[in-house]
Amino acid sequence: MKTMPSQTIHIIGGGLAGSEAAWQAARAGVPVVLHEMRPVRATAAHVSDGLAELVCSNSFRSDDTENNAVGLLHEEMRRCGSLIMRAADAHRVPAGGALAVDRQGFSAAVQRALVAEPLVELRREEITGLPPADWDSVIVATGPLTSAALAEAIRTFSGEDALAFFDAIAPIVYRETIDMAKAWLQSRYGKGDGADYINCALDKPQYEAFVAALVAGEKTEFHEWETDTPYFEGCLPIEVMAARGIDTLRYGPMKPVGLRDPRTGRGAHAVVQLRQDNALGTLYNIVGFQTKLKHAEQKRLFRMIPGLEQAEFARLGGLHRNTFLNSPRLLDGALRLKAMPRLRFAGQITGVEGYVESAAIGLLAGRFAAAERLGRDVALPPATTALGALLRHITAGADAGTFQPMNVNFGLFPPLPEGAITRGNRGERKPLLARRALADLAHWLGPARAAAE
Ligand SMILES: Cc1cc2nc3c(=O)[nH]c(=O)nc-3n(C[C@H](O)[C@H](O)[C@H](O)COP(=O)(O)OP(=O)(O)OC[C@H]3O[C@@H](n4cnc5c(N)ncnc54)[C@H](O)[C@@H]3O)c2cc1C
Repeated sequence: MKTMPSQTIHIIGGGLAGSEAAWQAARAGVPVVLHEMRPVRATAAHVSDGLAELVCSNSFRSDDTENNAVGLLHEEMRRCGSLIMRAADAHRVPAGGALAVDRQGFSAAVQRALVAEPLVELRREEITGLPPADWDSVIVATGPLTSAALAEAIRTFSGEDALAFFDAIAPIVYRETIDMAKAWLQSRYGKGDGADYINCALDKPQYEAFVAALVAGEKTEFHEWETDTPYFEGCLPIEVMAARGIDTLRYGPMKPVGLRDPRTGRGAHAVVQLRQDNALGTLYNIVGFQTKLKHAEQKRLFRMIPGLEQAEFARLGGLHRNTFLNSPRLLDGALRLKAMPRLRFAGQITGVEGYVESAAIGLLAGRFAAAERLGRDVALPPATTALGALLRHITAGADAGTFQPMNVNFGLFPPLPEGAITRGNRGERKPLLARRALADLAHWLGPARAAAE
């Protein structure tokens, strides 16, 4: 076991946020103890004891820096020396314009880097209550599946009830069981290398029968503690979308635009897309098919899709609770609990949504905690950056009364100066926001980098 000096930062949770926070603090020269409860105690969704395990999709979403806010966040994190982004880039699998990773390779790379880092000590233990008083700098990054004992303690010491809602897992299919005589390889609009997705076409009668079956399908009963909690709109179960109207899925995860069925030479009425889920290319996930249908129903219904009649599933869909704080009310601008500033929060528990956003908030928490330890001012990233926009949203920008988890998006950014958008460059709004963000990030990193050296 490494001997850690005083001045140590304690980080609870070695997921996306905690791993990134540990890396950032250690790289700034501050010792860290990273407390991860797996494998001592499991969660409902993790299946390994690896750090930074991806519990559902293997996608970090769009990698388009100029036109997509999450792509911009990727780039900002890379420029901040992010371990999560370094590991993701190194373990990338084909996914059109998205950044998708081989999940085992990714998690192993994060763990290897942290174990090799002399200033990081990894302890496999569950923290079950208020951290000891002599831990005077703590980052809580225990995620949506924070263990019950700690969640209860947080509820008590934060003076606020944590909220809960559902995320949903999409099923994964073995590639060899997909009938490629019916399905075909193509990315929407030919993005990426043009053939990153497996597509299954449905004609109108097939689509309507499928929608009807989804609506009628047997669903999982909610646990008592899960009732009366709203869904996150960005991650609705497929059967909930189906119940909203016959065409809802055709305008959602089953949209046929940008795809042409080579057997007919035409677009289809609806298309189901499957995306590569591991480096070997043996597993594919059904994109957007998160569900709370019973497992037997999932097999029966998803085998109605042309090309998936013989599909075997490596993993079926499911539902999980999410735990998050009312951050706008409870946290200060540097992610500290106002009522107990030795505690910082990071990751999904702060009310951001998604792997990348969780890691981004971990990155900031690690930097802020390290700056404090080094006796430096905590400089917040400019609000014009994706990092700053997201941070400000959860700590100040969002309405505390209606606070719900948030993905990064350009709507969180301050508008461009008046006159920057003219009739001639209206389509340039996002690239202009992105360029401004990266320029402002460089200013923020400039003195911060100089100070760290
Ligand atoms: C079922 C499910 C599916 C999801 N799917 C996606 C998806 O497809 N795409 C996406 O972008 N986001 C998804 N999310 C949302 C979210 O982005 C991820 O959960 C992400 O992993 C959050 O990062 P985190 O670091 O905050 O938490 P985590 O990555 O979950 O890390 C928290 C860590 O803390 C540990 N821990 C918990 N309690 C304790 C304790 N008391 N003591 C010590 N350690 C503890 C856990 O074991 C875990 O390793 C999903 C969430 C859930 C619940």
